[in-house]
Amino acid sequence: MAELPDKRGAFFDWYLEVIEAAQLTDKRYPVKGLNVWTPYGFRARRQLDAVLVREIEATKSEPVEFPALIPETEFRKEGDHIKGFDAQVYWVTRGGSTPLDVPLVLRPTSETAMYPIFALWVRSHQDLPLNVYQIVNTFRYETKTTRPFLRVREIHFFEEHTCQIDDAAASARVASNLAAFEKMAHAFDLPFLAVRRPEWDKFPGAHYTIALDIPLGEGRTLQIGSIHHYRENFSRPYGIQYEDRDGTQRFAHQTTFGLSERLVGAIVATHGDAQGVVFPSEIAPYSVVIIPVLSAKSTADPRPVAAEVAERLTAAGCRVHLDDGEGRPGAKYYYWETRGVPLRIEIGGREATERFVTVASRLGEKERVDLATLEIDIGRALERFDATLRVKAHEAYLQAFELALTLETVRKREKIYLISWCGQEACGHEVENAVDGALLGVLEGEPPIPVPDLPGCVACGRDGGTRWAAAGRPI
Ligand code: ZN
Repeated sequence: MAELPDKRGAFFDWYLEVIEAAQLTDKRYPVKGLNVWTPYGFRARRQLDAVLVREIEATKSEPVEFPALIPETEFRKEGDHIKGFDAQVYWVTRGGSTPLDVPLVLRPTSETAMYPIFALWVRSHQDLPLNVYQIVNTFRYETKTTRPFLRVREIHFFEEHTCQIDDAAASARVASNLAAFEKMAHAFDLPFLAVRRPEWDKFPGAHYTIALDIPLGEGRTLQIGSIHHYRENFSRPYGIQYEDRDGTQRFAHQTTFGLSERLVGAIVATHGDAQGVVFPSEIAPYSVVIIPVLSAKSTADPRPVAAEVAERLTAAGCRVHLDDGEGRPGAKYYYWETRGVPLRIEIGGREATERFVTVASRLGEKERVDLATLEIDIGRALERFDATLRVKAHEAYLQAFELALTLETVRKREKIYLISWCGQEACGHEVENAVDGALLGVLEGEPPIPVPDLPGCVACGRDGGTRWAAAGRPI
């Protein structure tokens, strides 16, 4: 088998080949940037969506689904939002051969689809908060190089939209979303950076934007999602108003929380290695693969035991694949390693006779498990696998950062730099020029690596009022 490109030296070559080898997507669809979810990729996506649904519903959010087509008249109601998306939307202008009276936009995101209806749903303070989410496909006409999961034109997308009673309640919802994402990221074994984007880089129409960024190595970052506080920026043009307790009409304060299929790319990029993809156990299309090993030397047939193990582990809640097809065991081991299955269970003649199995983790650990304690021991092996994966990911995460007390350090362009910033836009742009990328934003929460007391601004030297911010190169 051909060796994969080096993950560190040739990241994007490595990334594309790993995705290809694991068959997570098929890029041969005859429209650039519209990719096919293969059965294996779809299974991973379904697992991932289940985590998002579980964690967002735990914060009292309700599922909805709005239409994919938005009338131009609604789409154009909020000025900044339109400026941000106008160049990226697909238009539907004909029904059959008849031109439509009102052209339709294929949703790039769903504010303008949902908010005319929110205006009907929200009448009184008793209707608040309104927290709803949907998981749908959105469409953006990307002009940059497309890459599977990282930059596509049809995007699998999670979006929560809420209406709150006031600014403080909306800020609390933003905090609740960030806490929910921490739980999601734990299930993905995925360390991330939360930053408040600078004014010049926030979401079109937002009061402020908290972005969720993943390091990709060598200073590169991937934005996998964001949380926005809209204040009344959308509720005013869309008329989302409620009657307060004292009888006055007020506009709702709104928030949104979006995550895209970039999460799949982030999981591949964070955990993958020289052998291929590595899936956290909760996201893996199969958490366990069972391989009966037939041998001429042994008279015992391992296949009935393999079937028993498959049945018992399925009943215990594992996603099991029994690979009892043609082919040599070595080739099967390689195949499932490339695809990132957390645990492989090997069952040969000796195992069948003595009633045990050999368990090999995707991270290289091997152990013997008696059939008597199969379910408990496999459960523990999966927990250990995730714990190890999490530690490895966290170590790599820490390596992605460097403290920069001067712009000279930032100009090395090798890491994500933690800098002290006074908040002035001119200084921000100076940092962006130095890193040849972006001022990602002011950190939400503690810095990922040890830092001294806040020094003066890295650009202008001004003391007082500085904050820790991160600078890197978003892809
Ligand atoms: Zn400054």
